[in-house]
Amino acid sequence: MTPETRTEAESAGPRARRRRIYMDNHATTPCDPRVVEAMLPFFTEKFGNAASRNHEFGWEAEEAVTDARARIAQAIHAADPREIVFTSGATESDNLALKGVAEMFREKGNHIITVPTEHKAVVDTARYLESRGFEVTWLSPGSDGLVDLDELRAAVTDRTILISVMFANNEIGVIQPIREIAEIAAEKGVLFHSDAAQAVGKVPVDVQEMGIHLLSFSAHKIYGPKGIGALYIRRRQPRVRVAIQMHGGGHERGNRSGTLAVPLIVGFAKAVDLAVDDLTNGEIDRIRAMRDRLLHGITSRLPECHVNGSLEHRLPNNLNISFAYVEGESLLMGINDIAVSSGSACTSASLEPSYVLKAMGVGDDLAHTSIRFGLGRFNTEEEVDYVIERVVQTVNRLRELSPLWEMVQEGIDLSKMDWTGD
Ligand SMILES: *Cc1c(COP(=O)(O)O)cnc(C)c1O
Repeated sequence: MTPETRTEAESAGPRARRRRIYMDNHATTPCDPRVVEAMLPFFTEKFGNAASRNHEFGWEAEEAVTDARARIAQAIHAADPREIVFTSGATESDNLALKGVAEMFREKGNHIITVPTEHKAVVDTARYLESRGFEVTWLSPGSDGLVDLDELRAAVTDRTILISVMFANNEIGVIQPIREIAEIAAEKGVLFHSDAAQAVGKVPVDVQEMGIHLLSFSAHKIYGPKGIGALYIRRRQPRVRVAIQMHGGGHERGNRSGTLAVPLIVGFAKAVDLAVDDLTNGEIDRIRAMRDRLLHGITSRLPECHVNGSLEHRLPNNLNISFAYVEGESLLMGINDIAVSSGSACTSASLEPSYVLKAMGVGDDLAHTSIRFGLGRFNTEEEVDYVIERVVQTVNRLRELSPLWEMVQEGIDLSKMDWTGD
């Protein structure tokens, strides 16, 4: 609750609290109450350390972790539960995958291939490795956000040790051609890591069938708790090994030391169970229908809207639209009862356009006016209709105030304008 709403609630009572709609489910999701319920006993009566081997408290915790690990492994079709390594989230999983492979295979080569549209957890880790003497090829995504497979194939050298391409993008929802990338990796004898934080529970993920060697994912993107995630590390065909990044008691078969967060792991497994059910019980279809309703509701009523990223190869819950001739900040302020993300990132000094949109060739103006809608399990069609109404009204109002929009309406070609006044 923001201080602003708290004051309102205190002065006028809870019923007067203004409406808030959460449509930022790529950033995080609320914990599903069923997940919380599954976790609760493991904070109190079942509080044991899963590494305590000599009493019942430990056994109880270990049993819960073993069960959770098996269910999580099964959800991504891993061959063996031992291929699941628990981490604090997808950021840590990405770090372990990239640094772990880089260090382990340094003798074989020092070349890594990735994409500038990756999550920062991959981008910044790859940059760090560059600073440590590794060579990184940054592929150029198309204007639709997709990786060019020919460019990828041509980038592989005999020094290449890893290809890291995300399953689905967190800003534009674009789903990469994972099977084809894996085929190229297999052909060339290179390891393939994919960040699937946005994909698990939204689209089918099958690490064996798809040929993925390392896969990062996280509980809080699928209605589970924050602070827990996993890295899938394949054990057979090929056996993948990563250099240890967290030294200590040798937990997780030495891959990640630290006392296991048993309640979070239990919640993670419950969240994964529910998310996998969503793929077949009609829930994902409901979310896709709401996304399409939002898309058509907005674009049928507003001209000059640009959808960022491929619509065809896209997560069912994502929509990313740029609204030409409005100011991004004003638009966000105008719809501030709706939680969404914008294509501008406030850094300490300036307003930077999204590096993802920039890498796809979206101009700064359109990047600044982009909005990311992330639909989720707790959104309703009625909320979608409200959002359409608010966005259409706000964009129309802002455009009425815009001298640029007025000129466009008068048929003036802005690209031919001389702005210098000389
Ligand atoms: C959220 C997210 C992450 C980071 O996950 P955490 O569990 O918050 O560390 C990494 N990659 C992608 C694609 C994400 O969406």
